[in-house]
Amino acid sequence: MGIESLARPEIVAMKPYSSARKEAPGEGILLNANESPWPLLEDSGLNRYPDPQPAELVSRLADLYGVPRESVLVTRGSDEGIDLLTRVFCRAGQDAILQCPPTFGMYKIAAQTQGAEIISVPRSGAAFALDKRALLGAVEQDRRIKVIFLTSPNNPTGDLVGKEFLQQLLDAAQNRAIVVVDEAYAEFCQQPSAAGMVDDHENLVILRTMSKAWAAAGLRCGAVLAQPSVIALLRRVIAPYPLPSPVVALALRMLESAVLEKQQHLMSEVSANKEFLLRQLESREFIRNIIPGEANFVLIQVDNADELLTHCAEHGVIIRGFPADPSLQEYIRISVGSQSDIATLGGVLDEWEKTV
Ligand SMILES: *Cc1c(COP(=O)(O)O)cnc(C)c1O
Repeated sequence: MGIESLARPEIVAMKPYSSARKEAPGEGILLNANESPWPLLEDSGLNRYPDPQPAELVSRLADLYGVPRESVLVTRGSDEGIDLLTRVFCRAGQDAILQCPPTFGMYKIAAQTQGAEIISVPRSGAAFALDKRALLGAVEQDRRIKVIFLTSPNNPTGDLVGKEFLQQLLDAAQNRAIVVVDEAYAEFCQQPSAAGMVDDHENLVILRTMSKAWAAAGLRCGAVLAQPSVIALLRRVIAPYPLPSPVVALALRMLESAVLEKQQHLMSEVSANKEFLLRQLESREFIRNIIPGEANFVLIQVDNADELLTHCAEHGVIIRGFPADPSLQEYIRISVGSQSDIATLGGVLDEWEKTV
């Protein structure tokens, strides 16, 4: 059974929009896209529509993530990948996504936007471990589930999805659902990416992004990695020109070897700063639990989370609480900042300690 049988039939049936740049990507006298012959900003090239999937960027990202070019779709951050997957595979009012809260909030938003059901298999215990049995059970029993969102490392709990369990889930989901592994923080952990498994599994999708470990949240550049059949389905619904040409140019610069070296350096800096952050948090009475996780943030459980957030904000340090999530009422997520950010946070926490 091909992957098309899992997609919304109307998406499979529709004739995709064929943009001018897609039909005639090349050179010549371009009078086919109602563009201006000149830009207003000199030498900017902005008068022309960009390549829908710039070949050089696709190729560089394919090398970076270790997959063939045909397995890459470049997107506006991985948020766009989440949205595309939900729109392609979930029929409104009929199909569902599966998520394991507490987790990244955009899976739910994408489902709500599409009118898809949200099936939640909550994480359990003090460490918020995945409930693997319940997860497999849900996939086996509930035929509405079309997209399963896993996050490795997970946001905000920082834990990984093991290869063995992923394999089990892929088997359970075969011919039933797409398994998405959101690897937004993969560079921060030691476990290899699941991208190597894409070749063997048509229902596996990996999401990567330059927003976190590539220090480029403002760039809005992410990638979906999947077999070409899945990429082709997503290309049916993605905007005709998702990537602005200045973004493509900057993304290519970021993948030059000098910047690759800097990125490696950044990783070791984050790792050292995370140790420093953990030392600032250790042995404080009001912190009841520290979940270090495998990413560039730490989750802590505290008394009076709301008041602590306010105290920090009043002293100019913004950390993340989860007032809307009942399972995270006592938790706060702290990103690994610079040495001086962390030192300042330490001082603000010292002040707080005196008041409680
Ligand atoms: C930050 C984050 C994203 C969003 O990434 P963009 O590429 O900036 O859209 C996706 N998934 C998770 C788990 C995240 O924490």
